[in-house]
Amino acid sequence: MLVSAKEMLDKAKAGHYAVGQFNINNLEWTKAILQTAQEQNSPVILGVSEGAGKYMGGYKTVVGMVNGMLEELNITVPVALHLDHGGYDACYKCIEAGFSSIMFDGSHYPIEENVAKTKELVAAAHEKGLSIEAEVGAIGGEEDGVVGMGECADPKECKMVADLGVDFLAAGIGNIHGKYPANWKGLSFETLDAIQQLTGDLPLVLHGGTGIPADMIKKAISLGVSKINVNTECQLAFAAATRKYIEEGKDQEGKGYDPRKLLAPGTQAIKDTVKEKMEMFGSIGKA
Ligand SMILES: [Zn+2]
Repeated sequence: MLVSAKEMLDKAKAGHYAVGQFNINNLEWTKAILQTAQEQNSPVILGVSEGAGKYMGGYKTVVGMVNGMLEELNITVPVALHLDHGGYDACYKCIEAGFSSIMFDGSHYPIEENVAKTKELVAAAHEKGLSIEAEVGAIGGEEDGVVGMGECADPKECKMVADLGVDFLAAGIGNIHGKYPANWKGLSFETLDAIQQLTGDLPLVLHGGTGIPADMIKKAISLGVSKINVNTECQLAFAAATRKYIEEGKDQEGKGYDPRKLLAPGTQAIKDTVKEKMEMFGSIGKA
């Protein structure tokens, strides 16, 4: 059964480790992440962006697939199904569809409007037992065609949003989505420290976990980060393994074209990536 992400992240914050959010794109992705979490006895958060939800046939399809796997693959570790960077309408759709957690990304609104909408969604999510993440300070990256260097959130605004009753908070600390450029300045631990001083026990979320060096990840966890989002890294691993299979001509040997064979190396690459991240985040054995 799906669970909200609140308890697993409160435990992670208290235990000084982080739980990975791994975004899913299809059945193979979902199965690879769930099986790895079970094998490693780790809690896990499945992230679904609005685009991925649409791609997979809608939020209800995703809920059906995930719930089916939890039962038939005997997944007993805590699993949360979480809307990633949801808009206002998508949040309500996911609450309705059976997600166990949502993120409302109101970071592009003026702070007053972000606060008002977040407050409303906190009530709606909690009423149905879902956890909710909010965001302050836009996280850079290539997502909207513009490459940002990663903004730093205002700690006072973080405190304002934290006080609305959100279960965990994403704050920009120089992190960005996608691959990091060569001239990236690194995470701002000064900002992170200032945010944690004001928000206390609230678990903090680090988006854009792909390619952040391990020592920076560990330092971020020591300063209160309890959830780390990984998306691009699984995509790169899947693509590289699939490319190798094709380039070696394996799809043309015997029944190598069978999707169950064609997609197997990429699926294994996702499993390896997820395991590596769980080791780095310290969540193995914490289920
Ligand atoms: Zn993000």
